[in-house]
Amino acid sequence: MKCYVCGTDNIESKARCPLCGFPVPRIVGDNGQEMEKLKEMAGKYRQKKLEGWKTGMTIYRHEKKGEDLEFNVEQKICLADCSELQIGEIFWNDQKFARVDANGPVELKVWVQKAQQPEKYGTVRVQAPDSEGFWQVGVRMQDGWKLQFVLKDDKKQFASDDFSMDELIQ
Ligand SMILES: [Zn+2]
Repeated sequence: MKCYVCGTDNIESKARCPLCGFPVPRIVGDNGQEMEKLKEMAGKYRQKKLEGWKTGMTIYRHEKKGEDLEFNVEQKICLADCSELQIGEIFWNDQKFARVDANGPVELKVWVQKAQQPEKYGTVRVQAPDSEGFWQVGVRMQDGWKLQFVLKDDKKQFASDDFSMDELIQ
């Protein structure tokens, strides 16, 4: 069975999940009410674990300075509060991004950060939507405290490889 909090698999022989510490439930029979209660507890536990954590990426803007000097200005943007992410579901950020000229995968510089602590940065690769329109970026929490970044246009969406934050979650 999978942990209800972080999605770590094969935990049935353990007392607690080795990754997040949530007690492995012992439910006798198929009790719907117990299950509901358990899921609620797991949800609160997950929220507490991820409290204060934010994730996002770095984008680059072209800015004109003076007559014709153009700078690649780095800007850190927040995409989601991690405590609001549900495992397996994509949280879409409202911002629209201008298309980047890319055939095939692009690299995103992504980060996670708790409050004012230093960020953990990483790079993920994701297929770029091949259209003239704007992109939206979403974040999906995967099993084992791993994040995926998802790009979509009006037709298709593509998910990045995993960006793990498991060593950061206490
Ligand atoms: Zn767990």
